[in-house]
Amino acid sequence: MNAPTRPKWRVGQTVALRKAHACGGRQWRIVRVGADIGVVCETCGRRVLLPRDEFDRAARTPPLSSPRQQEEAGGRLPLQKGSP
Ligand SMILES: [Zn+2]
Repeated sequence: MNAPTRPKWRVGQTVALRKAHACGGRQWRIVRVGADIGVVCETCGRRVLLPRDEFDRAARTPPLSSPRQQEEAGGRLPLQKGSP
């Protein structure tokens, strides 16, 4: 069944989990997507299966570029000048 509010995970994607692994690593790579999400710890290489619910809660989506800096550009130069 579809769960529209849940992010979709892709094999090969690297994610940071809130909870650190026993080895101290927080970076994981997804190796399997299904009812369970299979991830490999990028620090120690151990493979772990997490229920999708649990994974959704533990995983963070990568931070987007902050919108503040974009607003700062007050005076923009025109991209093109008119004809000579
Ligand atoms: Zn680890």
